Amino acid sequence: MNYQKLKGTADLLPNETVKWQHIEEKALNLLKKYRFEEIRTPLFEQLELFARGVGETSDIVTKEMYDFFDKGNRHIALRPEGTAGVVRSFVENKLYGPEFQKPTKLFYIGPMFRYERPQSGRQRQFHQLGVEVFGSKNPSTDVETMLLAMDLFRQYGIDDLTLVINSLGSSSSRQDYRTALIDYLEPYFDQLSQDSKERLYKNPLRVLDSKDRKDKEIVKDAPSILDYLDDESQKHFEMVKNMLEDLSIPYVIDTNMVRGLDYYNDTIFEIITTNPKFGANATICAGGRYDGLVEEVGGPETSAFGFGFGLERLILLLDHMNYSFPDTNPLDAYIVTIGEKANSEANKLAFHLRQQGQSVEREFMNRKPAKQFKTADKMKAAYVFILGDNEIEQGIVQVKNLQSGVQSEVALSDVYSEFERTINKLESDLKREEE
Ligand code: ATP
Ligand code: MG
Repeated sequence: MNYQKLKGTADLLPNETVKWQHIEEKALNLLKKYRFEEIRTPLFEQLELFARGVGETSDIVTKEMYDFFDKGNRHIALRPEGTAGVVRSFVENKLYGPEFQKPTKLFYIGPMFRYERPQSGRQRQFHQLGVEVFGSKNPSTDVETMLLAMDLFRQYGIDDLTLVINSLGSSSSRQDYRTALIDYLEPYFDQLSQDSKERLYKNPLRVLDSKDRKDKEIVKDAPSILDYLDDESQKHFEMVKNMLEDLSIPYVIDTNMVRGLDYYNDTIFEIITTNPKFGANATICAGGRYDGLVEEVGGPETSAFGFGFGLERLILLLDHMNYSFPDTNPLDAYIVTIGEKANSEANKLAFHLRQQGQSVEREFMNRKPAKQFKTADKMKAAYVFILGDNEIEQGIVQVKNLQSGVQSEVALSDVYSEFERTINKLESDLKREEE
């Protein structure tokens, strides 16, 4: 029997996981500085939560859900995105309670599942990192969170980034805009794509978001949502823009940007890269304000702001930029063994070196010394320790500095008790000899 991974899934082999670890470590450090804390929610939830949370008319819910009935006949879905589960958990665990610091600043990282046609940068199991801030209506929250998103990408040296913003206003002002938009689009009905025809009355804003070329042309002259904002939303948007300008953060306003998820209000944003890898303008991060969702999911009225991005696409971008991933686990010592006695002495040597915090590899395959040295070279070991019958009899070990090529004898007992001091002494003795 030949087993193969399922379509749209990927094995991350060690040459890839080192990249993931590096990216995650950098991201986690930055999130800590912005004082975000991690939340881990289940990979599957009641299907209904996503229908509610993501929006009944979104592509995710209508076409891409990985759903099934479990043995108890519950309708379940693998999570297609992170926000719905975090909001459910926020409500269920009453994180809005008075004992918690406000706003609540959470991040998540992990696999998401969407039943899509796999292609480069599009998988059925992929990974997202996202943040959610609960409890602050302050436009500073919008700005700080967008800034965090920009910072996350900048720390990998990605600088061809554009911050695109828009405001969707309040749900009541959006009602007026909806009507105006339908009035504008109706005369073009026959020319609209099938998807847009279906959405026109259910959720006309999504027509603005269409990727169809003809649709794009039609919506170019559509009325602008910004002309329909009520006073409060207008003020909020002004403040966001002023704060961005205060920080000298360039941004572009795109009044046709509405985002795929249905739950947003007021500020929404995307970060776009002009890197040719992704065509002209590709979104690498998106998010916005969603003040109604916590209530929708059964909690108290709670402002919220968040964003998410895909890690596979970030890695594609970094690979394309020839980003240099640092060696995060340099090898301090490789132990070359010659003979049977060395085999068990090497256990002891490796153990003692690791106890002292060194990163150590040893020979297991009993190969010829030349082969072992080659391996040590390949692994870029700082030192090679050579153990043979003679050495063990005399209680010593040969230590070779691979960079200088200098080899010396050291007492095993010294290495076992004080590796670092022994090595330092060795190096300074050698230096003195040279002078
Ligand atoms: P797209 O237009 O590419 O389908 P989307 O609008 O569905 O993206 P979101 O729902 O906003 O994307 O998800 C946020 C991010 O998650 C995307 O920008 C992308 O990086 C990543 N993402 C979404 N779907 C996939 C997928 N199937 N495979 C890999 N990454 C994905
Ligand atoms: Mg999609």
